[in-house]
Parts: sequence; C-alpha cells; structure tokens
Amino acid sequence: MTGPRHSCGVVGVSSKFDVVLDIHRSLRMIQHRGQESAGISVFDGSGVRTVKGDGLVQVALNENNMKDLHGTSGIGHVRYPSASSKDSINAQPIDMHTSHGTMSIAHNGDITNYSELRTNYLGQGWSFLTSSDSEMMLKLISKYMQQYKEPIKAIRSMMSEVDGAYSLTILVNNRIFGVRDPYGFRPLCIGNTGDGHILVSESTAIESLRGKFIRDVMPGEIVEITDSKILSYPNPATSPKAHCMFEWIYFARPDSVIDGREVYLVRKNVGMILSKECPADIDVVMSVPDSGRSHALGYAIGAKVPYEEGFMKNRFVERTFILPDQKQREEAVMMKMSPIKSTVNGKKVLIVDDSIVRGTTLLKLIGMLRDAGAKEVHVRIGCPPVIAPCYYGVDMKTREQFIANKFSLDEITRRMGADSLGYISIEGLVKAIGLPESDLCLACVNNRYPTHIKGEVHRFQSTLQDDFDKTGQSKCKK
Ligand code: SF4
Repeated sequence: MTGPRHSCGVVGVSSKFDVVLDIHRSLRMIQHRGQESAGISVFDGSGVRTVKGDGLVQVALNENNMKDLHGTSGIGHVRYPSASSKDSINAQPIDMHTSHGTMSIAHNGDITNYSELRTNYLGQGWSFLTSSDSEMMLKLISKYMQQYKEPIKAIRSMMSEVDGAYSLTILVNNRIFGVRDPYGFRPLCIGNTGDGHILVSESTAIESLRGKFIRDVMPGEIVEITDSKILSYPNPATSPKAHCMFEWIYFARPDSVIDGREVYLVRKNVGMILSKECPADIDVVMSVPDSGRSHALGYAIGAKVPYEEGFMKNRFVERTFILPDQKQREEAVMMKMSPIKSTVNGKKVLIVDDSIVRGTTLLKLIGMLRDAGAKEVHVRIGCPPVIAPCYYGVDMKTREQFIANKFSLDEITRRMGADSLGYISIEGLVKAIGLPESDLCLACVNNRYPTHIKGEVHRFQSTLQDDFDKTGQSKCKK
C-alpha cells in the first residue's frame, strides 16, 4: 500500500489455436505489475503485428484495436515505467524489422549498464527510437542474428553484454523465447495451457487459463516454447542468485508461487515472525488493505490477538498510482480509505503494512484511526527499513526519498503519531521467505548490491563502507 511502484509484467503464449485472448486474460491477471500501458504482439502467419496503448489492459487493448489481431504465437506486456521515461513511445512490446524477419520484445526489469551501452553504440552510428533499455536488448539480439543467423546464440550474446535485471518474452517471427537474467531478479515461469505453453511473470495467470504450472525459468536460462514442447538452454556458467525480496513482500499477488515459495505463505510468515520480534499489548490487529492483509493475518495468529478489518476501501475512487504527483495520491488515499469504527473505537489497535518508503500515506491513515477513537495505534512493517535505491526495475531511485534515511526510529514514530513502530529484521525476512540469504537481493534494505554498481557496495565486498550496513537487527520502538 505504501510501498514502491513496480515496473512490468510479461507473458508469451504458443498454442494450436489463437492466443490473443489468452494473452489478454493473462495480462489482466498481472495488471498489478504495471498500469501505465499494455500491449500484445502476435505472429499472424505472415509477420508480427503489435497493438498497444496507454492505461489498463481493458482500455489499452479493446474490442476495436484487437478485432483483427490473430495468431498462434504471441507475447504481451503491462508496464509501469522505471528507468525509461513515461512516454507512450516506450510502451511494449517493442518491434524491430530485420533481414531475419520481425522481432518483438517484452521486458520486466532494468539494465544497469544501459547508459554505457547506449553511449557506446551511438558512437558506432546506431540510432534509437526510444529511451528504453528493452530496445537496446532487441537491437543487440538483431546485431547477433546477423552474425549467427540463429536466435539462441543471438540472445545468449546479448546476455553477455547487458548487466542487471531482465525477465523477457521474445517473439522472433513465430517462435517464442523466455529469458531470465543470471541472477533471477524478476520472476518468470512456464505453464501448460492444455493447447500449448505459456511463459508469464506470475503463476496465477496460468491458473486463470485453467492451465498447469510447470516450473520457474531458471536464472540465466533461455527457453523456447511451442504448442507441444519446451526447449531449455540453461545458463552455461554458474552465477549467484538474487531474487528480489520485494516480489514476496509487496509486488506479486498472494496466490502466486515464485521460485517455489507461495507469496501468501511468505507474507503470513512475515507477520508471525514480526509478532515475536516486535510484540505489543493490543486488543486488535488490522491491515492496510490490500497489500498488508496477509502480513497482518500472520501477526494476529502469532500474537494470538483477533484480526479485524479496520479500513474499508472505496474501490471506485480513481487509482492512486495513475495520479501524477505525491500530493494528489495522498489526497486520493483519504477518499479511498475510511476506518471501521467498531474495530477501532476505544481499542489498542495494531496496524500492519507491507513496507514504508516515504511514510506519508501511513501518517494519514494513523490520523484517521485516531479520529475514529483509537486508544493507541501501533504500527508494524513487514519489510526492514528501505534505505537504498533499486537499480533493478523498481521505482525507488534516490536515498533522499526514504523516510528511514531522514529520521531515526523514534522520530518516525513521533512524526507518524504512532504509539510504537516496528519493522521485521532482515534475518526474520529471510527466514519468512525460506530461501538462503545468498539467493536473495536485499540491496534496498542492506545497501549491498548483488551486481557491480558504480559507487555502491557489492554484497561480497568487505570495506569500511560496511558500517553503512546499519540494519540486520529487529527494528522495534515502543
Ligand atoms: Fe528488489 Fe530491493 Fe533488490 Fe530492487 S534492490 S531488486 S527492490 S530487493
């Protein structure tokens, strides 16, 4: 709820039958990953055709612009802009016509060496239509197609030039490829739809097609799907993994399973661990709907205190994420949420949210709980303090924006008007996810980056800057 904005979701489907409706439905299932624009590219038998537009899937891809779109292989994309600008020209999929046919790409993540690559290739006479790192990847694949005349080698060569986070679906004429960067920052999984196969950011989309989840694409793997086969080209090298912890904490739907861990269960674990790390003398646990709900339920179970709905959400107010500035988003929150008085009035209330970035929304919500008669308001957060920017596809770009960098825990508690504030520890978060810490990216909470970023500390680096790694302990202020 008060967490960061995400970047994108991707899908690719190959089937015996027309794939357009399957892609459309899958994009709606991953709509939460991006609401700025949506698009579909299909191979229609003679070439690749793309339809895309601004807004939600059902607006961007409607009866009018989709009526002539047909094909048995295609890819799709929903987008929230991150590294690129918000221009419509950066909507995806992005197409390119080459001597080897038409290619189209859909990308989730950010390439961290994009500026260097762009400068380098501009110097070699290349031109770019967009400011998107996805176009760079498509151009690199095209360059290597000239050399190898074969997509797998071309994609692998592109991967050797780019750094950072990318889960991709790529259409090369009628062939569909899925790619996950060697660290596996962003999710991508494979399913069987009954009539073919699907690649998609989150497993919940597979179920919506009444399909069966098969497996996650492995970090560094390239897969090709057809209506009857999955061809795998694993990463030839071994590299450390760095799955983004925010996928479980905030971005993904609770009913998705990412890298073997169900999002809902992880969030419930977070709440249960948080209840032990940061207990409080309270009457009721409630959530910031909707993203804090599973964490709050876990807290209530762990603390053996009743869970109640404490805020009613008005679903007909415009979506806060499409509003252009922070102030308008905050005002929309006031219109969107109203407290349920019987949960709150005269009670010692504990409210759980998934994460805090700026903290402005939570401040307003606490004020609303006080106005509704809460005797005490305690706040618990299912993510350690966010202190460092993300370079891997999440809209958290500067250290100045994080409340945890501006104020101490005492000051944040006071400024928010809370009686107590507690964050889960990094150790607790890792335990809740249930994967080894070395397989996770935790850079935005521990300031140690899994890839080399100029001016930042690498996670295997041991220097004086390690002092800046100020979290790791349970953060709880009563
Ligand atoms: Fe995810 Fe944070 Fe790593 Fe970005 S820095 S990939 S948000 S864990």
